[in-house]
Amino acid sequence: MKGTFPVSRFQALETPFYYYDTQLLRHTLTCVRTECAKYSKYAVHYAVKANANPKLLAIIRESGLGADCVSGGEIRAAIQAGMPPQGIVFAGVGKADWEINLGLSHHIFCFNVESVPELEIIDELAGKQNTIAQVALRINPDVGAHTHANITTGLKENKFGINLNDLDMVLDKTSALKHVRLVGLHFHIGSQILDMNDFVSLCNRINEIQEHLYNRRIIVDHINVGGGLGVDYQHPNRQSVPDFASYFATFHKHLRLRPKQFVHFEPGRSIVAQCGSLISRVLYVKQGANKQFAILDAGMTDLIRPALYQAYHKIENLTSEESMEKYDVVGPICESSDVFGKAVDLNKARRGDLIAIRSAGAYGEIMASGYNCRPLPKGYTSEDFL
Ligand SMILES: *Cc1c(COP(=O)(O)O)cnc(C)c1O
Repeated sequence: MKGTFPVSRFQALETPFYYYDTQLLRHTLTCVRTECAKYSKYAVHYAVKANANPKLLAIIRESGLGADCVSGGEIRAAIQAGMPPQGIVFAGVGKADWEINLGLSHHIFCFNVESVPELEIIDELAGKQNTIAQVALRINPDVGAHTHANITTGLKENKFGINLNDLDMVLDKTSALKHVRLVGLHFHIGSQILDMNDFVSLCNRINEIQEHLYNRRIIVDHINVGGGLGVDYQHPNRQSVPDFASYFATFHKHLRLRPKQFVHFEPGRSIVAQCGSLISRVLYVKQGANKQFAILDAGMTDLIRPALYQAYHKIENLTSEESMEKYDVVGPICESSDVFGKAVDLNKARRGDLIAIRSAGAYGEIMASGYNCRPLPKGYTSEDFL
């Protein structure tokens, strides 16, 4: 089954471009809100790095989500989209001074701090602005996730977060500083996680850490469990909305909270992946030695996930109903890794056919580059065609 697209409207447009189904985005946001609202004191911050297209950010803002930012540029994008600074959390291992100052001047909700040197600089800069920065310690929980190695972040060999062994020292340090206030703990174990047991492991580790803090008479107000919920790249039509019900229920069941504690979530991919597709045209069908290539006008500069993480995306020929044939679907970039899929079943392809690369709403447009001096792809929403 193929997705439904306004193909006749696409014909007039230059390719490649991203197409976002805003009805699906709104439906996904409604599901997040409904499932999250079943539990009191759960708050959701959209991870802006998944997609910062202003049209999508505006819709996400309307739904009342906060923002999870990993750079000063993302803080600006969130604020420009009208997201309130009190809903902004700011993570990242390498926050530059100007980025910290930007967060301080907007009085964002929380800095997720990843090291002692960073904590000291936030304290110093907050002192200069005569303010107090709310901080959460990002702990590296040493919990693995069953996902691709490049998108695992919560193991002790990863660069992210504060090592568990250093926690006591960092807590001492934090209480000695005058311009930071410890308000929470932050975790993020990776991305494209579909096995709820990974989140159970995270909850168990957080429970242990909370126990440790409790013994030191420390209770923080906020537990931020990060993002990472995966989507069904194989079946974008069958499962167009991720299973948010099980996701929140897993945390509700396994995370032991102290009275008055809030839980924060930072979903990125699960909000925007399925509503986006990269639309491209077939430039050439080329016969290779033992296979045929469908050469598209989109390449890894437009969507890098297959080249970067061997990621799978479903590919559909939107303008052919002829019988299925196998193709290696490739881009025009001068790199052997510029391949969207090998031995892909497509309706017989001819020059000019429109191709949809599905589930490309997250880590697609935002990661586009100008390599080979290529122009960046445009982004259209379904509302642009009304
Ligand atoms: C990337 C990231 C997220 C979002 O991850 P998804 O897998 O897209 O949900 C959330 N929090 C932090 C700190 C991140 O770096």
